[in-house]
Amino acid sequence: MFSILTSHRHLMETTGFTETQLTVREAVSQVCSQFPNTYWQERDQTEQDPKEFHAALAQDGWLGVALPEALGGSGLGISEATLMMQTIAESGAGMAGAQAIHANVYATQPLAKFGTKSQVEGTIPNIISGEWRVCFGVTEPNAGLDTLRLSTTATKLTDGSYRIDGQKIWITCAQVASKMILLARTTPLNEVKKPSEGLSLFCIDLDRDQPGLDMRKIKKLGGRAVDANEVFFENYVVPENALIGQEGQGFKVILHGMNAERCLLAGEALGLGYAAINKAAQYARERVVFRRPIGQNQGIAHPLADAYMKLEAAKHATYHAARLYDESGKQLDGHGSGITQESVGVACNSAKYMAAEAAFNACENAVLTHGGMGYAAEYDVERWFRESLVPRIAPVSREMILNYISEKVLRLPRSY
Ligand SMILES: Cc1cc2nc3c(=O)[nH]c(=O)nc-3n(C[C@H](O)[C@H](O)[C@H](O)COP(=O)(O)OP(=O)(O)OC[C@H]3O[C@@H](n4cnc5c(N)ncnc54)[C@H](O)[C@@H]3O)c2cc1C
Repeated sequence: MFSILTSHRHLMETTGFTETQLTVREAVSQVCSQFPNTYWQERDQTEQDPKEFHAALAQDGWLGVALPEALGGSGLGISEATLMMQTIAESGAGMAGAQAIHANVYATQPLAKFGTKSQVEGTIPNIISGEWRVCFGVTEPNAGLDTLRLSTTATKLTDGSYRIDGQKIWITCAQVASKMILLARTTPLNEVKKPSEGLSLFCIDLDRDQPGLDMRKIKKLGGRAVDANEVFFENYVVPENALIGQEGQGFKVILHGMNAERCLLAGEALGLGYAAINKAAQYARERVVFRRPIGQNQGIAHPLADAYMKLEAAKHATYHAARLYDESGKQLDGHGSGITQESVGVACNSAKYMAAEAAFNACENAVLTHGGMGYAAEYDVERWFRESLVPRIAPVSREMILNYISEKVLRLPRSY
């Protein structure tokens, strides 16, 4: 009885969260509880999309957590969306569960903010209802983290439509998505004053019956339930009204959502980490070797205690960053919030970095605590360990965050 009760206890300390946030956590936990670890093990092994999971969250309205109420969303902030993503990962769904819905929550933010009335009304309700799924197309094989040098082009044709040519890589959920939020160059790099100019953001249909669109799945380490893809465009034509915001201003539009995405990723990493040490602590209480529970050995207990504290510290950084993000967008008594975009950027990048490192550490120690069983799919920790590499790499790597803090906070010379 003892082990059953404790195995379902969440480890995260929830003091300081608002009542709304805790309600979100409880309600999302309820949905996730219909999808046990065996579901995610099976999906990982068979590389099958968790479409029932996406549908269940959509059915209860969760995909619109941070979208306007007028469009069918809940109108909550990135703080609540982050806690929702954490809860999903922490339920055992891990990064696979989070990635199955991540872009629907995040990539829709620039669309909601900068789209025209007809664009938002024509798309967002269908995304919230789960009828359409979204993917996010930024990364390219030849540009990597140097996003401003991406080479996919959108060329305006005489009738106002755009022709897309180029290649994207690592696009999560492209196989199951009906829409892609796409960043492409509309003015060549050598014709703009700054590389950040001349890029445009589009919300395009992924119409597999139309010529000029092709995609190829990438075999990968973890999160195998969700697909990741190379996507090829050749003379792929999209209508004029696919453009979000002003032509040439795409990078500014997308920047709006980048800090939000760092918070969501931080939450997802935290969820993985808490799930892993929860499972490891349970195993350490129950597994008896040398006639005592292995958790009685400090060599097992201390790394888990250390991992817990690192997760708690990263949790504070994450929800601080999300709060800054939400408050920076508010008007207080007709004045701006006084929170600079730089402080939001520093907080969101730091949170993503710390949460990713804390999660990786927690997952590694969870595998080691399980000994040989840490290597068995049945115990889940190997799945979470494989997945814990993702928040360290994407959407921005550890190294680029260290570069950012070195330059923006420490005022050191830019190194690249
Ligand atoms: C599972 C997964 C899902 C993803 N999903 C999406 C998605 O849906 N949509 C999307 O657009 N992208 C997606 N990505 C792509 C992801 O955002 C990129 O992989 C990430 O931004 C890193 O880019 P890159 O792989 O091109 O690395 P590169 O730019 O090739 O970098 C390689 C290494 O060099 C380091 N490096 C490069 N330049 C510097 C420098 N100046 N200083 C120090 N170190 C440097 C990097 O930190 C990194 O360690 C996904 C990636 C993964 C793994």
